[in-house]
Amino acid sequence: MSQTTTAARLWALDAPRMNIDAAHLVVGAEGTVSIPLPAFLIEHEQGLVLFDTSMNPLVCDDPALVFGDRPETAMIESNPEQRIDRQLAKLGFRPEDITHVVLSHTHSDHAGGLYLFPRAEFYIGPEEFRWAADPGETAYLFQPSDLSDEVKEFDWHDVDPLGTDLFGDGAINILHTPGHTPGELSALVRLPSQNIVLTGDTVHLREAMEWDEVDPNDWDYEVARKSITTLKNLQEDEQAKVWIAHDPRDWADFGGPLSAIE
Ligand SMILES: [Zn+2]
Repeated sequence: MSQTTTAARLWALDAPRMNIDAAHLVVGAEGTVSIPLPAFLIEHEQGLVLFDTSMNPLVCDDPALVFGDRPETAMIESNPEQRIDRQLAKLGFRPEDITHVVLSHTHSDHAGGLYLFPRAEFYIGPEEFRWAADPGETAYLFQPSDLSDEVKEFDWHDVDPLGTDLFGDGAINILHTPGHTPGELSALVRLPSQNIVLTGDTVHLREAMEWDEVDPNDWDYEVARKSITTLKNLQEDEQAKVWIAHDPRDWADFGGPLSAIE
């Protein structure tokens, strides 16, 4: 690797929230939590990178347009200003400005906006597409239209199981942290002020890290626990802060949506 540089800044984009039983996110957790379903935007001198794409923008207009009479319609709180295209516009960007999209995994709260970025380069974890074609009991976590034939024809790259250094300078390292799904990805983002690990759904709430505990929907519990150890090692070895995408406490601690972290 050449000399390590940093990305310029990172933002969490505002996104719909889902009110959900914490036990559905971490075995043993209690109560109802209101979890954000965000995407993250990273500005680097060589490109503008999205980590995840949140839900289909139609969910922001009205969840029933996507989920009909399924329980999600009542569980989701959203408004049209949370559409990912409008969130980008608030920062002065258009969808066609996005050069790279990293998809943590194929569930509908992460893959819903993929179709907006046909000109970008896409990064996906090993085996993820093959598994997503037949996910068994967890099929309800997918929205088949997110992964349309058109989206699958985009410029996809498989992330190396040992990780992919996106720009070859150490600023954005895409990490394979399987367990929630076979191709689950996280990312280590080096910024001028700090190193941040974006988790995707490697973990869902802080309790998962504290208890080494899985999500009952995880694809492979043993593999998922190993990936929790990977996150802890990054915290230690890189003095990195872990930003758990769905944990509202992390969302608050990092300053909330559209506040730039440099
Ligand atoms: Zn998720």
